[in-house]
Amino acid sequence: MEQPTQPSKPIDINRLQQALSVEAERGFGNLQGREHLFADFLGSSLGQSSWHRADRDRAQTLAGEYGKYDQLRLSQRKHLVAETRRFLYDVRRRELVSDRPPAKEKIAKTTPLKVEASKSTQSSAYRKPNQNLRLDSPLQYLEGVGPRIAERLANRLELHTVADMLNYYPRDHVDYARQVKIKDLNDGETVTIIGTIRRFSCFTSPKNKKLTIVEVMVSDHTGSIKLNRFWTGTRYSNYGWQQQQKSQYPKGATVAASGVVKRSKYGLTLDNFEIEVLEHSQDRIESHTIGRVVPIYPLSEGISPELIRRVVVQCLPVVNQIKDPLPEKLIKEHKLIKLAKAIAQVHYPPDSHALNDAVKRLTFDKYFYRRLVSLYRRNQQQASPFIAQSKLVDEFEQRLPFQLTNAQQRCVNEIRADLQRNTPMNRLLQGDVGAGKTVVSVFALLTAIESGFQTALMAPTEVLVEQHYRKIVDWFNLLNLPVELLTGSTKAAKRRQILAQLETGELPLVIGTHALIQDGVNFHRLGLAVIDEQHRFGRDQRSRLLQKGTDPHVLIMTATPIPRTLYLTNSEIEVSLIDELPPGRKPIQTNLLKGAQRRDAYELMRREIAQGRQVYIVFPLVEESEKMADMKAAIAEREKLQKSIFPNFKVGLLHGQMSSAEKEEAINAFRDRQSDILVATTVVEVGVDVPNASVMLIEHADRFGLAQLHQLRGRVGRGAAQSYCLLMSSSKSETAQERLKVLEQSQDGFFIAERDFQIRGKGKDEGTEQSGHAGFSIDDRLPDEETRQQLYQEARAAAESILTEDITLESFPALKTEFEHHYQRLQGGAIFT
Ligand code: ADP
Ligand code: MG
Repeated sequence: MEQPTQPSKPIDINRLQQALSVEAERGFGNLQGREHLFADFLGSSLGQSSWHRADRDRAQTLAGEYGKYDQLRLSQRKHLVAETRRFLYDVRRRELVSDRPPAKEKIAKTTPLKVEASKSTQSSAYRKPNQNLRLDSPLQYLEGVGPRIAERLANRLELHTVADMLNYYPRDHVDYARQVKIKDLNDGETVTIIGTIRRFSCFTSPKNKKLTIVEVMVSDHTGSIKLNRFWTGTRYSNYGWQQQQKSQYPKGATVAASGVVKRSKYGLTLDNFEIEVLEHSQDRIESHTIGRVVPIYPLSEGISPELIRRVVVQCLPVVNQIKDPLPEKLIKEHKLIKLAKAIAQVHYPPDSHALNDAVKRLTFDKYFYRRLVSLYRRNQQQASPFIAQSKLVDEFEQRLPFQLTNAQQRCVNEIRADLQRNTPMNRLLQGDVGAGKTVVSVFALLTAIESGFQTALMAPTEVLVEQHYRKIVDWFNLLNLPVELLTGSTKAAKRRQILAQLETGELPLVIGTHALIQDGVNFHRLGLAVIDEQHRFGRDQRSRLLQKGTDPHVLIMTATPIPRTLYLTNSEIEVSLIDELPPGRKPIQTNLLKGAQRRDAYELMRREIAQGRQVYIVFPLVEESEKMADMKAAIAEREKLQKSIFPNFKVGLLHGQMSSAEKEEAINAFRDRQSDILVATTVVEVGVDVPNASVMLIEHADRFGLAQLHQLRGRVGRGAAQSYCLLMSSSKSETAQERLKVLEQSQDGFFIAERDFQIRGKGKDEGTEQSGHAGFSIDDRLPDEETRQQLYQEARAAAESILTEDITLESFPALKTEFEHHYQRLQGGAIFT
């Protein structure tokens, strides 16, 4: 590679390739690197004179294009990036060919797996492993992939090289081995059937323009069944897309379809199915397809499943060139399989155990590298350590009317230890509803304030924010500390005053909603941000708050177990757990009721009210788009309850369409006992704190998620009295009943979330949205949430121990290289230096 005679720097193709892939991953926004913008970096590298004579012209032309990168449209940027990548691959390939003839390379002759080309790839070329393929070979050099398809793979799926393809994991597998005859189908099973298309229709719902429905009638010699699948989004209501679907699945075609069998009043259906046309008659299918587990890839329009499989099958032999970067002892200690094997098996697993092992290994890697990167980054960041002083904190502790539970005390200690370090805290304070997170966060706030910093507490709704404010302002008054409330309804004059005080630094704590992250809110010295119910905030909103300071400490409060979003994003976090409720709380008696028992429920409520207690009646909040209808329903229900059921009591109303002043008024009225019953939508879920309320009746309980029901239920049982939660549901679905029973059995938010996850089957029912590259990640394929949590802990511990052993990673060269790659991907842009 040493041709340059000119004084300019030698060209680092790796670095350029990495820059290109980061730019692509981050959406072609012309990333800002540590020193340069992406386009400037590319322009100047390509413009250098040290390119080989044969490449110089093309490099110059491309360099010129990067000069105009800012003015290019998105599609043009994509095109340019893809072209540059191809150019670099060509350069690289030529260098490799001239340096080291591929003939001398050790490439295994056979694959470790018996991977057969799929049915549609019968051409003999696909069966011979291409001896010249390397991990960084462009896909264009594969059989059946010309420049046009290569470009499509690059632009739509970000797949450029053999390595990219190998790392493009299937989001599912169809098990053709578990084929079932139509007459033998049972409700609730996940099955594969093979049959003939009798009818195929694809249409947009007349009621909902965003919903597209595909219905297929398939029969085999034992019977026939209807297949249903729903697509949301306007791109599916597109006529062209629908026509394309129709032509892809013609009447008479033999297909394999898998899905979940559901019983409806029209008989059995196969829902959310995957379908694939088998090109040949039944006997040949049996010899080639049955008994195999076939991968299903996240797809994009214009790229057929057959194409992806064909390409993957050709790439698979190259897995033997993958060297496992993980140190041997980690692999042993965590009982992992080798990386090459995992990659081969995640595509074509011989059986479900093999698939599990593969998914585990790949998930381990994902969490492991993420943790390494974040630990590394954290070492580089500098936060302001707080002085270990505790006059304010001690005073607060003395004035508290109760004692912290052991769990609360432990969390306070963990947080305060973090705050003494000079790396920013990023901690999740996790505790069930009513566990007393707020008071713990106040200890953190006071620690920061005592060290001369400002603090902010952000929560997602005005109701919740006001709740916090009311509680904290009392405590702060005792300590002679000012605190202000900033929301969308704060009057202009007041807002100006708050902003001024934040800027000078005289205001130590501001509590607010999204209003806190608007422009114009500037802190003199923000040292700690506390965020409540973080799963309701997007990553952007959170980071906008953090940008109001320089690497402030962060404490996030949540009632749900480590939220799934944390696994899916790159955030890395420590967890403090309040696993104990304050003393004296009685478990809430929870009962699942049918319509006929409503009279009993009303009777219980009357009795409780007669004893001076209060009651909530909650209705589900339906679709965003139906908020108006929802409001009307709530209003109508209140009328009805007031007139015909509870004429002797006062019935109040609280719903999401009310202004925040109206909401506040309704809540205050309820708290002050001006109303006995509060009819509400889910706005009561967070923050409403009326200890005198002892009954909550939840209508249509089956329409809520369990976690949400648990949150709702937490609004009662806040005082000393025995409390009740009545779940009304007329759903006949067994799953719905089974889910609700979990609440009868348990008050433990963790247990509930876990069971919910199991019952719903890995979130398959969460929405109707299917496939899509963006939404899929390898850990979605783990068998259960428990495995995920365990792998997560193991991978993190492994990363920590490796860094403790050698913070430079020098003694693990392969790992170091891999780490750098991940660092650049996760950090984006850091590499244009
Ligand atoms: P959550 O964790 O749901 O946010 P809160 O912080 O709102 O819970 O606390 C619930 C209630 O319990 C509050 O009224 C709070 O003052 C009270 N509380 C918190 N800790 C204790 C404790 N150790 N002993 C008694 N009451 C407590
Ligand atoms: Mg709370």
